[in-house]
Amino acid sequence: MSFFNSIVTNALPILPKWFAKPFAKPYVAGETEDDAIIQIRNLNEKGFLTTVDILGEHINTKEDARLITSHYCNLYDRINLEALTCNISLKPTHVGLYISLAEAMGNITTILKKAKENNNFLRIDMENSPFTDQTFEIYNHCKTIYNQVGVVIQSYLHRSLNDVQHLANEQFNSRICKGIYKESEKIAYHEPEKINENFLSIAKSMILKKSFSAYATHDQDLIDQLLNWIETEKISKDLFEFQVLYGVPMGGRLEALLNTGYKVRVYVPYGPDWFDYSVRRLNENPKVISYVMKNIFRTK
Ligand SMILES: Cc1cc2nc3c(=O)[nH]c(=O)nc-3n(C[C@H](O)[C@H](O)[C@H](O)COP(=O)(O)OP(=O)(O)OC[C@H]3O[C@@H](n4cnc5c(N)ncnc54)[C@H](O)[C@@H]3O)c2cc1C
Repeated sequence: MSFFNSIVTNALPILPKWFAKPFAKPYVAGETEDDAIIQIRNLNEKGFLTTVDILGEHINTKEDARLITSHYCNLYDRINLEALTCNISLKPTHVGLYISLAEAMGNITTILKKAKENNNFLRIDMENSPFTDQTFEIYNHCKTIYNQVGVVIQSYLHRSLNDVQHLANEQFNSRICKGIYKESEKIAYHEPEKINENFLSIAKSMILKKSFSAYATHDQDLIDQLLNWIETEKISKDLFEFQVLYGVPMGGRLEALLNTGYKVRVYVPYGPDWFDYSVRRLNENPKVISYVMKNIFRTK
C-alpha cells in the first residue's frame, strides 16, 4: 500500500463526508431507492443477477428499526413492479438485533412475509461474532415460515465448517464469504491460506449435501480453484453462483464467467448511510484511492 493511500484510508473516518464521497462513490449505487433501481436495471440488462441492500447497521431504536423494515417491505414490491432480477440482503443489526433478538426476529419475519408475497428470496447477512448464534437462530425461525431464505457462512471462523455440517441439506442456501470483521485468533483464522482452504472445504461440504452456495469473493486465485474443482467434479450449475460487491474492479472476469454460462450476482448497496460501508471497502483495497484521485484530476 502506498504511503499516500494509507494516510487517506486512515484519515477518512475523521474527515468531512464531502471529502470521502468521491472515494465512496464506486462502491455505492446511490443514496435513494431510485438510484439503486437504475443500477440494478443496468446490471440485469448486462446479464447479472443482483441482490440489493439498504446501507446501515447497529440501529439502536425500535422506531428506526421498524422504519428500515418498512423500506425493505416496499423494496420487495418495487422489485416486483419493475420486473427486476433482484433479491434482498439485509444485516440483522440494521433491523433490530442491536436492540434485542425479539425485535430483530419480529422485523425480519415481517420482511420475509413480504418476500413470500412477492415470491422472492431473502438473504440474511452475517455480521461480527457476538451476533453469529442469534443470526442462525433468526434464520432457523425464518425457515419455518418460508423456504426462500438463506444465511451467510464466513470461512475465517473456526466454527463454520461445523455449522455447515449441522445446517446443510437440500433446502439450505448459503453465501460463503471470507468474513469482513476483525475477529480474535481464538475464534478465527488470520492466515489468508487457511481462510481460503476453509472456504473450499465449506464449498465441498455444501455440495455433498446438495445445498446451494453463493461463492462471494473477488479473489481471482480462489475463483480459479473453485472453477477447477467445479469443472473436474462436473458440479451442476444449479447448485452455485458467484457473487461480488458492486464497484469492485474485476478486470473482465465477471463477463468471462457469464460468457461461460455461470451465474454472477452483484451485491448492490445504497442509502444515505454509505459512509461506514465505503470506509470498510477502501480498507480492503486502498489502491482505489489512487484511481479516484486520478479520475478527479482527469475530469477537472
Ligand atoms: C457478495 C458479497 C457479500 C458479502 N457478504 C458478507 C457478509 O454477509 N458478511 C461478511 O462478514 N462479509 C461479507 N462479504 C465480505 C467478504 O467477507 C470479504 O471481506 C470481502 O469480499 C473481501 O474478500 P475477498 O474474498 O474478495 O478476498 P480478498 O483476498 O480480500 O481480496 C481479493 C482481491 O480483491 C480485491 N478487493 C477486495 N475487496 C476490494 C475492494 N473493496 N475494492 C477493490 N478491490 C478489492 C483485493 O485487493 C484483492 O486483490 C461479502 C462479500 C461479497 C462479495
